[in-house]
Amino acid sequence: MTQKIALVGIGKIAKDQHVPSINASPDWTLAATVSRSGTVDGVPAFTDLDEMLAQRDDVRVISLCLPPVPRFDYARKAILAGRHVMLEKPPGATLAEVHALSALAAQQGVTLFATWHSRMAAGVEQARAWLAGKTIAKAHITWKEDVKKWHPGQEWVFEPGGMGVFDPGSNALSILTHILPRPVHVTAATLEYPQGRQTPIAAQVQFSDNVSGDFDWRQTGPQTWDIALETEAGTLVLSDGGATLTIDGATQDVGENREYPALYERMTRLVADGESDVDLSPMVHIADALTLGRRVDCAPFSF
Ligand code: NAP
Repeated sequence: MTQKIALVGIGKIAKDQHVPSINASPDWTLAATVSRSGTVDGVPAFTDLDEMLAQRDDVRVISLCLPPVPRFDYARKAILAGRHVMLEKPPGATLAEVHALSALAAQQGVTLFATWHSRMAAGVEQARAWLAGKTIAKAHITWKEDVKKWHPGQEWVFEPGGMGVFDPGSNALSILTHILPRPVHVTAATLEYPQGRQTPIAAQVQFSDNVSGDFDWRQTGPQTWDIALETEAGTLVLSDGGATLTIDGATQDVGENREYPALYERMTRLVADGESDVDLSPMVHIADALTLGRRVDCAPFSF
């Protein structure tokens, strides 16, 4: 038996990942969409969340694919209407608003799942298991991609709350916070802001315990999503966003990379078990980097 789910915000990630994952899932039926402009063929489309919540009591689960700033109001309404909610990453524009959603979900007795799709990448659990109990001598994130390819024309990424390069950077941080045997914290950062923009296009972040990160949204050609960790027992590298794992140069068998299908499988279990999953540790690093970071200007950017 499938559960009915509604997708809200039919934009790039909804079309690229959420719709195909829901359609391929034995657990879910896409029963409604809410979007001011986007629709999905054959699925009843609403332009207003209140209307959908009022008319579709049969839809008990809502997956929010909006950017972080508008997402809070939608999530709050859905939870208040007794619906279980999935949040795209990063789960909110601020830490406090996600704490508020978490408390509201607990009060309403519904599931809140703050998803981190990169944590579901094929090599991540094996990396975490291998690193458990080991001492990290050094770790470095290299997360370099082309904002024009992944966020074409999306001005919101450079608006307040859009987080700039930390939007994809949150993927790396979601993996790092999951696999490190003990937590680290940001100690310094340099943030590169294109002239006239509100969020950084590049960032170099230093963490405690010899952990560092280099995030850049200006990379054309091959894209780089790597995390390399040196331990007393060898070197582990997660690359391709966590889909490939090598230990001392030897590629490990990690199976197929299926991040979004795995998110929806986890949501099935969370709803069945009456649980929530809200881990804000990746966002804490972003907030701290934005708090501590030294701001430098760089060349103007336009899409
Ligand atoms: P997007 O295409 O710019 O936005 C998604 C949809 O949100 C839009 O189609 C729009 O739908 C709705 N929306 C945007 N601003 C809104 C507002 N102010 N009020 C109400 N609705 C609004 O963005 P996206 O790339 O799909 O990213 C959405 C989220 O997914 C972000 O948190 C991002 O980090 C995450 N994500 C993105 C990618 C990627 O490759 N782009 C990958 C993984 C995760 P309507 O205008 O039709 O209502």
